[in-house]
Amino acid sequence: VAQRLVVVGGDAAGMSAAMHARRRRAPEDLEVVAFERGRHTSYSACGIPYLVAGLVHDPEQLVARRPEQFRALGVDARIRHEVVEVDLGRRAVRVRALDAGTEAWEPFDQLVVATGARPRRPPVPGADATGILGVQRLDDGIALLDALDAERGGQGARRAVVVGGGYVGLEMAEALVLRGVPTTLVDARPQPMGTLDLDMGALVADALRGEGVELVLGEPVQAFEVAAGAVTGVVVGDRTLPADLVVLGLGVDPEVELGRAAGLAVGDAHGLRVDPRMRTSADGVWAAGDCVEVLHRVTGRHVAIALGTHANKQGRVAGIDCTGGDATFPGVVGTAVSKICAYEVARTGLTEAEAAAAGLDAEAHRVEATTRAGYFPGAGPITVKLVVERSTTRILGGQIIGREGAAKRIDVLAAAVWHEMAAEDLVGLDLSYAPPFSPVWDPVQVAARKASRVGR
Ligand SMILES: Cc1cc2nc3c(=O)[nH]c(=O)nc-3n(C[C@H](O)[C@H](O)[C@H](O)COP(=O)(O)OP(=O)(O)OC[C@H]3O[C@@H](n4cnc5c(N)ncnc54)[C@H](O)[C@@H]3O)c2cc1C
Repeated sequence: VAQRLVVVGGDAAGMSAAMHARRRRAPEDLEVVAFERGRHTSYSACGIPYLVAGLVHDPEQLVARRPEQFRALGVDARIRHEVVEVDLGRRAVRVRALDAGTEAWEPFDQLVVATGARPRRPPVPGADATGILGVQRLDDGIALLDALDAERGGQGARRAVVVGGGYVGLEMAEALVLRGVPTTLVDARPQPMGTLDLDMGALVADALRGEGVELVLGEPVQAFEVAAGAVTGVVVGDRTLPADLVVLGLGVDPEVELGRAAGLAVGDAHGLRVDPRMRTSADGVWAAGDCVEVLHRVTGRHVAIALGTHANKQGRVAGIDCTGGDATFPGVVGTAVSKICAYEVARTGLTEAEAAAAGLDAEAHRVEATTRAGYFPGAGPITVKLVVERSTTRILGGQIIGREGAAKRIDVLAAAVWHEMAAEDLVGLDLSYAPPFSPVWDPVQVAARKASRVGR
């Protein structure tokens, strides 16, 4: 074998890199080995809420490719193998076989670090108690099912509290309620979903309450009450919310410790620093996915945004470039979408608050419209908020909450932000129309008309 590629992390970014490298080079030319410390490769963490809700019945359904399938394709994927050290001088990684309890040094010519992210834990007493679960890997989703389900050997949780109202926390709160577990969501902010402005977050809060999620907003968690090592309650303000299951929804931090210990540069957003080709600060070492930080194209700053869509694209770039190709990852504009109860909740670019924090002179325009022609059966409400630069009306960002079509409409705004379109450009854009899909003026174009200086 002429060369050896080692990948650390067997999910979206790591296995994308492995497969793209595999396709570009013959097995006799390049050996590809991937180490994953968990029990699964290429799983959809994004599907965990639907597993917990009972919409997906078997965790295996969330696995896109198992290790034996990778091996058949020429990628030596080894689960339950943790990389505990990277030695750049020796060009080898120290790997612990978790079941056998043995360790070995594995050499590499090229290395892709795709270690993902780690759920934040609140720095309060009791936070390490059993029953307080982060949701990141499929193994975490299975642990949650076990805790929920007496038939799987768990206690059968009777009351859950979700701490933190990011989209993962909200999707999990809804899933728990759908599963029949009374659930309270606690968030230190006055409204959930910190990636939206507060006025849009309020619509999300209403949707959650409508579905039966109890909300405790504007107060941080102060401590967890613990008995015999297990969580029994969450202390917020002067009261304790009883809970035998706590799910963390406070967001994630890039998992950089392995790379940092090896001497790889870590940036301002606490992710591994990479260039647009996903090269780290060390020769022949690449990184991709939730563990890296990338350029935000509107602010020009680095951000760590943990999303599967980025992980797959970045993994592709790393896999192509570590085998001599020339792909680039052009950065992000912060596009994201989630289904919260009956609503699609979507955002791109900067919120009004983020634009102000970035020192931009921005104004916002909000419109309420309908998802289909008003007379067409099934038409529902949709709210569009557009954030534009005041002097030029350049579109800086948008937020959309609606019964349907918010997810795809946000992609129009993402393209507008990406290409620095002004409001009037968007007003004239040739978007599709027929009564089942939108009113004759699409809601994003109604918002753009409000922002345009040419007239409403
Ligand atoms: C509940 C939930 C819902 C989500 N929904 C969406 C969504 O709707 N849309 C979207 O775009 N994104 C979504 N995401 C985010 C998406 O799942 C992640 O961004 C994506 O999985 C990141 O891929 P990754 O390969 O970078 O990291 P990960 O998926 O975290 O994979 C990293 C892997 O590396 C392994 N690893 C770490 N360190 C080591 C080591 N030292 N040795 C060996 N193995 C190691 C870990 O075990 C892990 O399996 C969601 C995430 C969650 C948790």
